[in-house]
Amino acid sequence: MAEINNFIRTIMQNDLDSGAVDHIETRFPPEPNAYLHIGHARAIVTNFELAKAFNGTTNLRFDDTNPAKEDKEFVEGIIEDLNWLGYKPNNVFYGSDYFEKTYEKAIMLIKKGLAYVDDLSQEEMSKYRGTLTEPGKNSPWRDRTVEENLKLFEEMRQGKYKDGEKTLRAKIDMASPNMNMRDPAMYRILHINHHRQGNKWCIYPMYDFAHPLQDAFEGITHSLCSLEYVDHRPLYDWFVEKCEMEHVPHQYEFGRLNIANTVLSKRYLRALVDAGKVSGYDDPRMPTICGLRRKGFTADAIRNFVLSTGLSRVNSTVEFELLDEELRQDLKLKALRPNAVINPVKVIVDNYPEGKVEWFDAPNNTENPELGSRKISFSREVYIEREDFIEVKPNKNWKRLALDVEVRLMRAYFIKATSVEKDAEGNITCIHATYDPATNAPDFKDRKPNGNIHYVDASTAIPATFRLYESLLAPETEENKDLDFMERLNPESVKESEGFVESNLADTKPLDHYQFIRNGYYVTDKDSTKDHLVFNRTCGLKSSFVIKK
Ligand code: ATP
Ligand code: MG
Repeated sequence: MAEINNFIRTIMQNDLDSGAVDHIETRFPPEPNAYLHIGHARAIVTNFELAKAFNGTTNLRFDDTNPAKEDKEFVEGIIEDLNWLGYKPNNVFYGSDYFEKTYEKAIMLIKKGLAYVDDLSQEEMSKYRGTLTEPGKNSPWRDRTVEENLKLFEEMRQGKYKDGEKTLRAKIDMASPNMNMRDPAMYRILHINHHRQGNKWCIYPMYDFAHPLQDAFEGITHSLCSLEYVDHRPLYDWFVEKCEMEHVPHQYEFGRLNIANTVLSKRYLRALVDAGKVSGYDDPRMPTICGLRRKGFTADAIRNFVLSTGLSRVNSTVEFELLDEELRQDLKLKALRPNAVINPVKVIVDNYPEGKVEWFDAPNNTENPELGSRKISFSREVYIEREDFIEVKPNKNWKRLALDVEVRLMRAYFIKATSVEKDAEGNITCIHATYDPATNAPDFKDRKPNGNIHYVDASTAIPATFRLYESLLAPETEENKDLDFMERLNPESVKESEGFVESNLADTKPLDHYQFIRNGYYVTDKDSTKDHLVFNRTCGLKSSFVIKK
């Protein structure tokens, strides 16, 4: 696996060299209000790999200070996904576990005259805040005495006030050019049940106040976050300083990872699930970690994808195809390569004895002998891909079956098509063929077939459904580019095909990966049963990626 190397690694190295820090401690702080997506993977890989590079530690910290949207289901989902990605946090913490300590720090700021209880409503506060070009105005409640503030804040905690009736704010500078410094809110009143704290609290700290304190309590040295927090950094430092935190953490920002024609916002992913546009967060079309896993992506492919996209101080957008390429790289030599016929047509080999079944040796992965071999069967009736047959060979480039044309059924015999049967609409229902018994010998070189195609023996075949996925969003065009994402869904994003796989897959389990010969990479779905197998297409065999100039 590629090693992590980026500007934050350089910062960490310099901090260690100068003695500014004596070890590295990072954290990954998701809000448990949704499942993780591929964008989070960048934050996860960055935090864990950087700490690992310096023998440091990484905490998982649930940023659960906003109870309205948070839930235990998401906590469990995030832990599962993180484990699956192969990262084991040194500690699992919850922001809400620091509520008492955070409250004490708020009292400290009130006592120092650096925080006050404001009676302005939300709307009034935003009016008073000013704009980027105009300074804000002081709230009429800004100069309350320390005693009054202490009393009111205590009453807020005791539940004396309704939601929004009062707010605790930091007293900084209503004229600051940085809007975040214009007396930001520290605590708001929310009479709501918290997934871990129950009804213990009815005041909740804001992210900007809680986060730096949590980093400091845990001894985080480098607090990494995405770019939108750059302007929050002065506030982060202000809270750490004014709360007299013993340990001083520092915030560093990196660019977000976006994927072309894919929406990674939680709000949107949730809307898709709620509207029933997908089967759940783990629908294989979703860019969530659980969706990608179900689609057949491996943890290594995701990690290598994140590492290969690098890290910088600007947001970046990459093609989904790069993830496919990492999957191919990862599985090329690891995955078994069985036969599957996805859109089948039957071939009857008229001169092959009825009732006879032969078993031939076939390597499990032609490029990796270490994976051994298996037996595949052959009998009088076999399935081939419908697209591997045409009645009349069009030209010399057609390297598949046609009437009077001979091909090799891989690992078995040469067969030659002799006639076809059709239904009333003219669709081919069955191909008749003959085989040549001499052609199975490994040293048979008398003549060359017109190509090699794969097959599945009908006498041992297992029926299977193949789910073929495309992008959830229709490609962007002039007409649809301004539409809401919900209106731009690709109606063809999943197609099901019925077909057959070879008998060796009888015991396949969900999340088993395969390269189906000449078809692509597939994974067994959780809907698969012993009698009816279900496979999801992860990606094709070859890249269709064109580098945009
Ligand atoms: P929202 O603001 O919708 O709640 P978020 O993206 O901030 O979502 P968090 O759960 O707070 O989600 O994210 C945890 C961490 O993952 C944060 O540090 C965040 O910066 C990082 N992160 C989330 N999305 C991306 C992305 N697309 N690229 C890089 N980092 C991301
Ligand atoms: Mg967030």
